[in-house]
Amino acid sequence: MNWRLTAACRDLDPDVFFPIGTGGMSLVQIAEAKTVCRRCPVAEQCLAWAVGDGRVEGIWGGTTENERRAMRLREDLGS
Ligand code: SF4
Repeated sequence: MNWRLTAACRDLDPDVFFPIGTGGMSLVQIAEAKTVCRRCPVAEQCLAWAVGDGRVEGIWGGTTENERRAMRLREDLGS
């Protein structure tokens, strides 16, 4: 978990990465979080951790929980 030390979100408000709901203001929050993730030097590690851990809430590695769920499903179908 050392990669967290250089995370772009390290000193930001964590609420941005945990939007409530899937519409309205949460869409703005999701877009803001993804903008931060795009410039994060450890996005790849973060995403791998979130997918591997089965983390279901929040934005991790530039993905929403639904996007990660779809990734896991694709991986399961491919194996
Ligand atoms: S990819 Fe996004 S959520 Fe993950 S550490 Fe980087 S900024 Fe934070």
